This record gives sequence, C-alpha cells and structure tokens, in this order.
Amino acid sequence: LSSRLQGFGTTIFAEMSALAVATGSINLGQGFPDYPGPPEVLEVARAAIGTAADQYPPGPGIPELRAAVAEHVQRFGGHAYDPDTEVLVTAGATEALAGALLALLEPGDEVVLFEPMYDSYAAGIAMAGGVARPVPLRPPASGAGPWTFDPAELRAAVTPRTRMLVLNTPHNPTGKVFTRAELGVLAALVMEHELLVLADEVYEHLVFGGARHASIATVPGLRERTLVVSSAGKTFNVTGWKVGWICGPAPLVSAVRTAKQFLTYVNAGPFQPAVAAGLRLPDEYFAGIARDLEYRRDVLVRGLTDAGLPVVSPEATYFATVDVRPVQPDGDGVAFCRALPERAGVVGIPTVVFYDPAHAHLGRHLVRFAFCKGDAVLGEAVQRLGRMT
Ligand code: PMP
Ligand code: GLN
Repeated sequence: LSSRLQGFGTTIFAEMSALAVATGSINLGQGFPDYPGPPEVLEVARAAIGTAADQYPPGPGIPELRAAVAEHVQRFGGHAYDPDTEVLVTAGATEALAGALLALLEPGDEVVLFEPMYDSYAAGIAMAGGVARPVPLRPPASGAGPWTFDPAELRAAVTPRTRMLVLNTPHNPTGKVFTRAELGVLAALVMEHELLVLADEVYEHLVFGGARHASIATVPGLRERTLVVSSAGKTFNVTGWKVGWICGPAPLVSAVRTAKQFLTYVNAGPFQPAVAAGLRLPDEYFAGIARDLEYRRDVLVRGLTDAGLPVVSPEATYFATVDVRPVQPDGDGVAFCRALPERAGVVGIPTVVFYDPAHAHLGRHLVRFAFCKGDAVLGEAVQRLGRMT
C-alpha cells in the first residue's frame, strides 16, 4: 500500500457487512435500502439493456441525463446549470468527490471539513496529496436538537494553506441539516479566504419534519466557487447503480472532467436514461420518499430508546446515532459493534471511523444504525435490540 493510503485499509462498511452475513445478523450498518426503486425507473434500465446504451456512453454522461440533472437541480432551488459545460455524470458521488479532490488540490493543500465525516473524504484528500483539517460537530447536550459546531473552532482550522471546504449536508452520519444561518457563517469564511467548496448533497431529498435542505451554492457569491455533488443511489433506492453527478461553474467542472477521463472514463450506460427518468418524476415522488423514511426513523428511534440507547433523532438521511455507554460501560463503540451480533443479532457502524484518529475520543462512544429497511426487517431489528443481552 502506498504511503498516501497508509491507514486506509478495509472500509468499515465491508467489514461490518461481512460480519452481518457471517453471523446471520440484521445489517443496519452499511446504508442501503432493502426495497426497490420506483418501477418506472427500473423499467427504463431494463429496456435499455441490449441496445446501443450497452456501449461506451459519452464521457460527460448522456445528454439526456445531463439535461435532467440541470432541470432537477433548478426545480429544487438550485442554480440553472448549463448541461453541456456545467454538469458531469460520474460513477456515483464517490467518483465526483475523488475526481474533484484530484483535479483541484495541490500537494499540501488543506481541506476544512466537519467530523464525523463520510469515510471517502479523508481517503480522497490523502490520494490527492492534501491534508484534512476536521472541525468537530457536537451532539446536542440534552440529547435533543441539532448537532452544532463552534464558529471559533472552524475559523481556527483555516490557515494560509487552506484551499477547500468540503461540506456534507444533509450530513452522514449525524443526520444534521445545516441551516441557512450556518451556511451564511461558512460562506463568509469561504469568501474571506477565497476557498473552493465541494458540497456533498446526496441526501438532499431525505429530509424530515420542519427541516429544509439548502445548498451552500445558493448563498450569494458562492456559485462560482462551489461544486455540488449528488447521486441516484439514495434518491431512487439504487445504491448499486453508482450513477452520480457534479454541477458547478464550467472551469471547475472541466477540471473534474479531466480527472474523470482517467479514473473511470465513462460509467454504466443503461442506468443513465433510467436515472434521467427518475429525476423527472413529479414532486410527489420526492416528498413521498422523505415521508416514508421519516416513519422508519420514528420506528427505529423508538426502538433504540426502548432498548436503553440514548439516540439523537436525525433531521435527515437514513441514519440514527446512539450513545452506547448505558449498555457498554467501557464506552467503546467498536467493541459494542463487534459484540452486537452475539448480543442482539444486529450490526451497526461505530461512528469513531468517521473521525480523524487524533479526535477519536469525540466519537468513541457513538454508533450509527441505518433505518432504510422494510417493515418486517426493521420491526425484527427493533425487537432484537429490545432483547439485547
Ligand atoms: N457521500 C455521502 C455522504 C454518502 O453517505 C455516500 C454513500 N453512500 C456517498 C457520498 C457515496 O455515494 P455513491 O454511492 O453515489 O458513490
Ligand atoms: N453511504 C453508505 C453509508 O454511509 C454506504 C457507504 C459505503 O458502502 N461506502 O453507509
């Protein structure tokens, strides 16, 4: 393993999914739904197989999908991006993120981001030769309310070497939705230090109750410095399709396109018209998936609470975070997750893996559970957790 990738062995998702299979446990670790996507989307993919769509699509993505992405972004409050120069189709959000980091960072450039952080950011920054400067999000002291950050800590993380802010909202794993006021604080810092912004918004539609997703790209002044990333995986329950996209000003998208040419060149043809059809579904589809997941959130949050695990109810995403200390006296979330198949027949993800090793103490006692599971599986998981030994 190269020096750039030291410390990034096997991802926790692979390890915990393998543990779930090996022990016959219910997998509430890796975030993927166990129910299918909308039939009209699946049908387009089926019909495309065996046609010219099976051969290399155009490098930036098929024009129909780029147009659908641009329309969809604008319909849900984003900018009007030019489908030809300001939209790029990628192999999932993961390639969009890695491509942007590889295309835009110089070795030694620093990237400010919030932790816990999705695991591909630190690895992507490291592969690009950059340095991650994580700023902690802290859970609400009383157990209810949003996770918050300290603007002074954020400011202190910015140095003359800082090149970029990576912002994930709605946020995995905490379920936090950054407010307009918080985006304003971030935007002021970005403008002051002339940073670029890489905005990961893959959970843009999985938002509950009164919370509202807003893109940092829409804060005045930020369009020209921001790349917005999203993905079909979460919105259409097709995490295995690996179709994502990135939108932004032409010079930045052009840079990412250059990197993408040599990462994957193109990505899966038959899924592209299908995702285009999905992005054109009526508003009610997008409201419906959020309503459905909100119900599942409530089932899991109640179950975790009844099992004696204090939980912060998420405003978005399909993850809930618990504090394991009442049932794991040493407060070790990794040990808790390794033993949970035995204790309850359930698998979760220790949140500590989303922290910089130097800040492990902040997340040591936290564990993430996914609730994007059908009624029977979620109901069984909750019962098992209730019988935890
Ligand atoms: N960003 C976040 C915050 C995620 O949770 C995920 C996970 N699935 C991704 C990016 C990766 O998305 P994709 O599967 O489209 O590559
Ligand atoms: N985004 C999903 C999660 O956070 C899946 C991640 C993965 O498998 N790399 O669980």
